[in-house]
Formats: sequence, structure tokens, C-alpha cells
Amino acid sequence: MHPHASRVHPAETLARLPTDHFRKSHGDPSMPYETVIGLEIHAQLLTRSKIFCGCSTTFGAAPNSHTCPVCLGMPGVLPVLNRKVVEFTIRMALATHCGIAPYSQFARKNYFYPDLPKGYQISQYELPLARSGWVEVVTEGVSRKIRIHRIHMEEDAGKLIHDEFQPLSYVDFNRTGVPLIEIVSEPDIRSPEEAAAYLRTLREILRYLEICDGNMEEGSMRCDANVSLRPVGEEKLGVKTELKNMNSFRNVQRALEFEIRRQGALLDRGEPVIQETLLWDASRGVTVSMRGKEEAHDYRYFPDPDLVPIEVGEEWVEAIRRELPELPDARRERFVRDYGLPAYDAEVLTSSKALAVYFEKAALAFPQPKIVSNWIMSELMRELKRDERDIEECPVPPESLAELLQLMEKGTVSGRIAKTVFDEMYSTGRKPGEIVREKGLVQVTDVSAIEAIVDEVIAESPGEVAGYRAGKDKLFGFLVGQVMKKSKGKANPKVVNDLLRSKLSS
Ligand code: ADP
Ligand code: MG
Ligand code: ZN
Repeated sequence: MHPHASRVHPAETLARLPTDHFRKSHGDPSMPYETVIGLEIHAQLLTRSKIFCGCSTTFGAAPNSHTCPVCLGMPGVLPVLNRKVVEFTIRMALATHCGIAPYSQFARKNYFYPDLPKGYQISQYELPLARSGWVEVVTEGVSRKIRIHRIHMEEDAGKLIHDEFQPLSYVDFNRTGVPLIEIVSEPDIRSPEEAAAYLRTLREILRYLEICDGNMEEGSMRCDANVSLRPVGEEKLGVKTELKNMNSFRNVQRALEFEIRRQGALLDRGEPVIQETLLWDASRGVTVSMRGKEEAHDYRYFPDPDLVPIEVGEEWVEAIRRELPELPDARRERFVRDYGLPAYDAEVLTSSKALAVYFEKAALAFPQPKIVSNWIMSELMRELKRDERDIEECPVPPESLAELLQLMEKGTVSGRIAKTVFDEMYSTGRKPGEIVREKGLVQVTDVSAIEAIVDEVIAESPGEVAGYRAGKDKLFGFLVGQVMKKSKGKANPKVVNDLLRSKLSS
């Protein structure tokens, strides 16, 4: 939706501000205001068909090819609720400790917009499917409970495509009727970092449950942020603004940081914060007024007479509960308990289900979990990050990583060579054993072979040898380096060290 007016809150007014307001922190007495944030998150559900008709939800089809009289809002048609949507919502509700309403209802939210063919959106209002949950959110090592106010189901609207050259807009109804859940938090979040961490936590859960792909850039997960300030120690909430249009974690955080500074400056000058909806303009790094309270919508909600109330029985909820997968928190605890990993490793490795599964497969084949974890967190994740690949697209299967670690363990390759082999595995997708054999990378532990090289190096470096013998200990490292170089990194470092030391001292 487009801003009516463009009242920009200019960045230059910020230059003069004390940075105080901005200091994150609960309970810091030097900080005059406490930040209060509540998020409303929309998540597109991964059902195959839409919420009230049989049309496909597949993304990227030709415009208006996934439509029918129901999702086009033709007169006389009747919506029929997709059972999967209710099931997915219950999954999320259970995973976030919400209560499931035995009786809930759809409502019509009335407004006019060209991407909304019926003139109303079917949503839930007074009687949502789920209420009163919480999630545990970790920010900078500190864990806090953020309460969830409610989770309800609704349908998505279509999409407008604005012509670049002519004053024309096109409308694509493929997205109309795609199922969404809206997850509304209580105003429990206390900093922009915590808002981003909360979002990440919810995305992780949605993905673990396999009910939403969580892609913010593509709009399958969207976030509106409500933010206000209040004097430290004050109970009553301050006047809030609502921020929209942020399509990444980073933008959510930046927009909130900007808005907190803006509100702090107003309050410092004794001016009121006006309750309004603001759009985040990422390219300029400012919020722009979209609509004020006076223009706020009156949606004239009322129960949708076309849809019967939803009654969810205890047995159904229990059946869904039994089938919930292991959730991120539980898996993290298990990784610490069963694999003896540090909390940090467990946190990183469970950040996605696929990564956690990768680790478990590798650790099964090479049962030294900390070594597996180190390799995943350093070598593997570095390569993936460089190529902007997800673990799902990793060219090194977990069994191959385990095989490489075994080669290292048996002394077939040195630690240094293992890294070279890993790079080769990553770029070619080949097995480590094959690479080692083919390139002749097997570690040389044969003392006589190494001794020959050591003798060569001693003969070629009389200056360094004399220097070392005269007490310049540092030169020892240089000589070791020369031997390793001549052996192309294959000499067993321990054997090299022992031989050199004994020869130099004799
Ligand atoms: P609205 O009616 O404007 O949509 P709601 O009461 O439905 O407001 O709350 C919407 C979101 O805003 C919720 O996530 C809630 O936690 C949050 N919220 C409500 N009041 C405040 C406030 N004063 N400051 C910050 N967030 C708030
Ligand atoms: Mg709201
Ligand atoms: Zn349809």
C-alpha cells in the first residue's frame, strides 16, 4: 500500500541527538527511556492448495493462472476451509506453547484495494485459533521469554505490478487465498537486537515444523514492528508507531534503531510521538509516514457467515502434538547432553534443521563430535558462506566429511593436507580417499624417507644451522618449514621435529 503523504523524518536531525536513547538496555539508570517493541509476523503456509479453494499455491506461475471463482471473489461462490491450514497452525501454536481454542471463527475484514477482489479479507478477529504462548529468545547470551498474544489464520491478498513506463498497474491474483498465519507478540521485546533474535527464533521454528520457508526477501515471511518508548520505571506504555515494509532481518533492526532515535529526540524536546504507520525506506535509511491514526482503517469486522465455526477436538490436537518434530531448543539441549558439545556449537549446529541433520550423520560415521563440529563450523561453513549456498546444496556429503576425518585420525593424511583435500572435495564433490590416492597426498611417516630430506635441508642451510646451534631458537621453525616444503606438506610433522632436533643437537 502506498503512502498518502511523504513526511520524511530527516536523518540530519539525528546528528544532534545524544546517543543515550539508543543504548540498548533494560534497567540502565543512565538511560532515560525503555524501548518497548511488539511484532506482528505473517508467515505463508506451505500447503499445496489455497486456504478456501483447490487452486495451487505454487510460486512463479503465469499471472492469474492459479485462480478460480472462489479466490477471484465471484458472487455466489462458497469458501471451504483447507484442513491442512488448521493443522499447520496448530503445529505452530503447540511449538510456541499457545492454548488452542476449542471453538474459533473466521471474520471478514472489510477494506477496498485492487488486489482484494472480494472487498474483504477473510481473517480471524475475536476468536483466533490460538492464544497465550511464549518463545525463549537469546540475545547476546541472555535468554528471555517473549510472550505470544495470539496466532490466527487468514488469506493472503493478490499482487499489484506497477508498469515502469506507463501510468498502469497490473494485478496478479495467484497469491489471493494463499494461507497465512499471523503471529502477534506481546510488547515484551526490549531492543532492536532482541526483535531480530525473536524473528530468527520464530523462523527457525516455522522451518523445523516445515510449515513455512521463512524467506523474508521473497515475502513468505513478513514483519510489522510496533515500537514505543517510556521513561525507565514507568509501567504505562508509551505511544507507539507501526513500521512496515522491512524485507530482511537487517532492515527490521535498522528501522527500529532509527525509529527509537527519532522518538527519543521528540520526547527529549517535550514533543509528543504521534501514533501512525510508517514505511521503512531502506535506501534512504529513514521512516516515512504512511497514515496517521485519523486515517486509520475501520475494518468493520464481523463473523463470516459463509464459514462454519472451527471446532478442534482434544484428540486431534494430541495427535498433532505426538507428531511434532524435535524443536530447535530440545535439539540444542540434546546436542550438549549427548554429544558433549559446548553450548555455542550446539546453537550454531541447530540453527537449521538441515545443518543439524548433517552434523548428526557425520558424527555417526565419525564419533568424535567436537572434531566434526569444528570442521563444520570452520571449513564447511566458510565455503558455504563464500558461495552463498545453503547446507542443502553442500557438495560434500556428511559421509565424505567423516571419511576425511578418519583418514586424518589414522594418520594417512596430516591436518594440513586434510584441509587441501577438503577444498578439493568441496569444489569437485569427489570422495577424499580417491583424491588422496590420485594426488599422492598420503602422509609420509617413513623415518628414512624423511631423514633424507632433513639431511638435505641441513646441508643446504649452513647459516641457519649455525645460527640455531648458537642459540637462535627461532631458526628451528624455519628448518621445519623447509623440510615440510620439500615433502610437499606430506611429511609427518612429529617425525620431522624429532629428527631435526636430534640431528641439530648432535
Ligand atoms: P493495533 O490495534 O494498533 O494493531 P494491537 O494492540 O493489536 O495494536 O497490537 C499490535 C502489536 O503492537 C502487538 O504486537 C503489541 O504487542 C504491540 N504493541 C501494542 N502496544 C504497544 C506499545 N505501546 N508499544 C509497543 N508495542 C505495542
Ligand atoms: Mg495490529
Ligand atoms: Zn481458487
